[in-house]
Amino acid sequence: MAFDPSSNIQDLLMFGEFGGVNPSITDSSTYTFMSPDKMKEVFETEIEGCFLYSRHWNPINKYLSGALAELECSESALVTASGMAAISSTILQICSTGDEIISSRTIYGGTYALFKNFLPRFGIKVHFINMSDISAIKKTISNRTRLIYCESMSNPLIEVADIPELSGIANQYGIKLVVDNTFSPMIISPLRLGADVVIHSLTKFVNGTSDCVAGCICSTKDFVNQLTDINGGASMLLGPVLDSYRAASILKNLHSLHIRVQKHSVNALYLAEQFENLGLRVFYPGLPSHGQHELMKQIMNPGFGFGGMLAVDLGDEESADKLMTKMQEEKVGYLAVSLGYFKTLFTSPSSSTASEIPKEEQETLGLSDGLVRMSVGIDNDIERSFKRITRCLKQLDLI
Ligand code: PLP
Repeated sequence: MAFDPSSNIQDLLMFGEFGGVNPSITDSSTYTFMSPDKMKEVFETEIEGCFLYSRHWNPINKYLSGALAELECSESALVTASGMAAISSTILQICSTGDEIISSRTIYGGTYALFKNFLPRFGIKVHFINMSDISAIKKTISNRTRLIYCESMSNPLIEVADIPELSGIANQYGIKLVVDNTFSPMIISPLRLGADVVIHSLTKFVNGTSDCVAGCICSTKDFVNQLTDINGGASMLLGPVLDSYRAASILKNLHSLHIRVQKHSVNALYLAEQFENLGLRVFYPGLPSHGQHELMKQIMNPGFGFGGMLAVDLGDEESADKLMTKMQEEKVGYLAVSLGYFKTLFTSPSSSTASEIPKEEQETLGLSDGLVRMSVGIDNDIERSFKRITRCLKQLDLI
C-alpha cells in the first residue's frame, strides 16, 4: 500500500518542445492538419495522441492529466474547468433519465445542490444515505442504480468513507463507486482501494495557491475516452475545458504537493490535539476520539498524515462568528470559503459551504450552527499560530 510520490509524479519527464524544464503552454485553440484526408481520418477514428481542437484535448492539459493519473494511480485522467464540472460530467456520462444514484448524505453543498435540485430535472434520482449504514445502502440499490457517490473525507464533518467496503458493494451490484478525493490527495488513493472513478476539485490542495478553479476525473482509459468522445462525451459536449495557462500553472504547483500535504497534516494534527486539550469538540481523523480514526489508519498512505482539514464546534453561531472575526483580526488566517491554501482559511459551513443543505437535514447530520471548519495552512510556526488562536478564545471567553 506504500505510496511513494517520488517514484510517480516526480519522475514524469515532461519537456517543452525546446527542452524547457516545464512543458510549453499550448496557446492554440485549434491545430493544423497537413491534408484534408488526415483531418477526415482523425474525425472518423479519433486517433489517440492527435490534437484537433482544444475543447477535446490539448498538449498541456494532456500533460497535467497524465500527472494526475500518476497521482491517483489511474490508467487515465481528464482535467476540467472546475471540480463541479468534473462531478457533473462524470454523473451525466454514467447516468441517463430514469437512473438512480446512492450518495453520501454528507457532501460538499454544491454537489448536494446538483444532486438534490438539478439532476431531478433530467429524471435522475439521488438517495442520500449515511455511508456507514451498509444495510441501508444495500436496501436502496435497485436495478436503476448506476453509482455510489461519496467523498473520501467528507465536507464539512471530516467523516472518512470506508472505500474498500463501499467498493465491495459496488462490485457486488455491478455499479460504479465514484469518490471525491478533494480533501485527501496523496493521503488516500481511492482507486487502489477499489473505487472506479476519482474526482478532484484541483482548486483546493492540489493547486494550493487559491488562484484558480479547476477539476479532474481519474479513471480507466475507456471512461476518459467516453467523456471526450466527439459524438457522446459529456465533457466534450458540455465543454468545461480547462484553460491551458491554468493547466500549466497547476502542473508546476503539483510538484510540491507532497511537501505541502505533509505540512498541512502536521499543523492540523497539532491544532486538533491542542483544541481537544482545551476541552473543545474537535472533528479530526488523526485524533483517537474521531469515529473513523482506526479506519483511517487502515486506508491511508503512510507518510502524509491525516490531512489539513479540521472542524471545531463552538456550540452556537454567535460564538463561531466572533471567533472567526477575531482570528482574522489576529492574523491567524482568512475568513474565506475554499481550502488547501497555504494560509489557514476558516468558515462556518452551516451558513456558507453547506447552506444548500436544509437546516433540518443539517441537524440530522450533526452539523451544528457553531461549527467552524478550518483548512489549516502550512504556517512555519504552528505553535505561534495556536497561541494567537488561544488569545482569541480567551478574549471571547470561549475557554
Ligand atoms: N468537492 C469538494 C469536496 C469541494 O469542497 C468543492 C468546492 O468547495 C468541490 C468539489 C467543487 O469544486 P470547484 O469549486 O472547483 O468547482
